[in-house]
Amino acid sequence: MSQYGDPAGSGRCACGAVSFVTEGSPKFVANCHCGDCRKATGAAFSTWVGYRNDQVKWTGERTLYESSPGVCRGFCRACGNPLTYQGAKWPGEIHILIGAFDQPDAFTPKGDVFAGEALAWSKPD
Ligand SMILES: [Zn+2]
Ligand SMILES: [Zn+2]
Repeated sequence: MSQYGDPAGSGRCACGAVSFVTEGSPKFVANCHCGDCRKATGAAFSTWVGYRNDQVKWTGERTLYESSPGVCRGFCRACGNPLTYQGAKWPGEIHILIGAFDQPDAFTPKGDVFAGEALAWSKPD
């Protein structure tokens, strides 16, 4: 099943300087409760949609920040929106924040990671 060109498979930062389209289904959709994601996004937890690098085509340039060794977070320098996560532990993958998608409601998280770091009020069941 291809989502190429499908609204669910496209997205952008708030200002539009960085945009993307995806092809095919994501490898996973999951909530991450880790402290690093909390800092990077400012939100209590982050919902990530994971793809292989070759499934995502980017327009515009993400600015990359190495938030910890082997972890690269991408954001738009113009509007500041956090967009992506790439980690040495997941070679060849790129994880995109669900809020960047044009139709974020198209995805449903199927899991929670780093649940042990979750804030008390947002612990997954
Ligand atoms: Zn932007
Ligand atoms: Zn995380």
